[in-house]
Amino acid sequence: MLAGPTAVGKGTVAAAVRASHPEVWVSVSATTRPPRPGEVDGVHYRFVSDEEFDQMIADDDLLEWAVVHKAARYGTPRGPVLEALAAGRPAMLEIDLQGARQVRETMPQALFVFLKPPSWDELVRRLVGRGTESEEERTRRLDTAREEMAAESEFDVVVVNHEVHAAADQLVGLMVLDPEPRQIPPSPNHL
Ligand code: 5GP
Repeated sequence: MLAGPTAVGKGTVAAAVRASHPEVWVSVSATTRPPRPGEVDGVHYRFVSDEEFDQMIADDDLLEWAVVHKAARYGTPRGPVLEALAAGRPAMLEIDLQGARQVRETMPQALFVFLKPPSWDELVRRLVGRGTESEEERTRRLDTAREEMAAESEFDVVVVNHEVHAAADQLVGLMVLDPEPRQIPPSPNHL
């Protein structure tokens, strides 16, 4: 479980894990936000309408979900996670803090990793450098990031994202070394 403040590079680290560690299964989240240039449906996210997201919630298809940055909904489809775990693959979710807290409740045996920027200034630089958000959206994301940074102590492990490939390798090392079997109990609705 990889969480951490916005713009710390969670998405980039998750992409590096996908590219260089095919043995690790990485969850593809559903989201109601529109794709950014270069994002591919089914690869980076499943881009869904508000109605489709409502339906996924109603069907209890999501392991967790949250409204992120007061802007859009994001959630982890439950079925693929259960399949990956049943197949014995190390599984990684890249989610925000609210989602991590939900998974903490339903799947307490998961390993919770907090990805941290080398410094606050570096986080701001990355968010501005990405250039994909409006000024208003950036301010909102920085507000969220400030709150999220305070949650570090809730996590099992902290990885500092100095360099993306090093962070990805460190993360995979933690998953492989982690001796606990990763099992999610089925939700009551799935019994
Ligand atoms: P972005 O819009 O930049 O791709 O992602 C915004 C935020 O949503 C990031 O902090 C990311 O971790 C979070 N996020 C992405 N997928 C999920 C998900 O499935 N569940 C939750 N709770 N957060 C997610």
